[in-house]
Amino acid sequence: MKRIIAANFKSNLSIQEIQQYFKTLNSSFNPSKDIEAIIFPPAFALNLEAINFNLGAQNAYGAKNGAFTGELTLDGLVSLGINYIMLGHSERRAMGEDQKLLTDKFNFYKDAGFKIVYCIGEDLNTRQKGQDNIEYMLSCQLEGIDLDYNGLTIAYEPIWAIGSGVSAKASDIESIHHFLRQKTNLALLYGGSVNDSNLKEILNIPDVNGALIGSAALKVENFLKMLEIAKEA
Ligand code: PEP
Repeated sequence: MKRIIAANFKSNLSIQEIQQYFKTLNSSFNPSKDIEAIIFPPAFALNLEAINFNLGAQNAYGAKNGAFTGELTLDGLVSLGINYIMLGHSERRAMGEDQKLLTDKFNFYKDAGFKIVYCIGEDLNTRQKGQDNIEYMLSCQLEGIDLDYNGLTIAYEPIWAIGSGVSAKASDIESIHHFLRQKTNLALLYGGSVNDSNLKEILNIPDVNGALIGSAALKVENFLKMLEIAKEA
């Protein structure tokens, strides 16, 4: 299966910095059939040229267009040539996106044929209660999500590992990805403090098909380095 290396810029970097980032990536990254690079920049950068990588929206509302002040919607994304979207990131769930809203968004963008990176992950309290509790929480986060949709990629991102500088242990990632693999044959990513020092080990864990990277991807040199590591892993 193809490796997927995705970068989530969140609400970081200016338009000038992202222009420079993409210019470097367009000239320095040699795409290969074994690697798919996806960048999820802030919405204001979704119209920039992406030659050898894919651009995706970090979020959007499940409607074609209309009276949805402040929201990105389908027609706008399609007009930019965007057909990737991330849904369910823990930072959006923490802002109040519940499973019903996420399921509606998922179904809407699935029907529109988008490729969807759907994030799930447990909080520290649940992690401390053990594997059964974690599996229950992840199953709830997958409720209503069509695991046979071939445009779907699942990103397992334990909340306590995001932005902490310390990724989950390989054995923990392995057991969760094994659990997820029983549910789907689609690509499974790990996210949570992935960087150029731990990426190779993470990509070699069974059932890990790629990574979703936040802070460590904010510098293009680092992202390029990680794409190289993924090519060799
Ligand atoms: C993320 O929030 O999606 C993420 C993976 O962040 P970080 O790599 O900074 O932990």
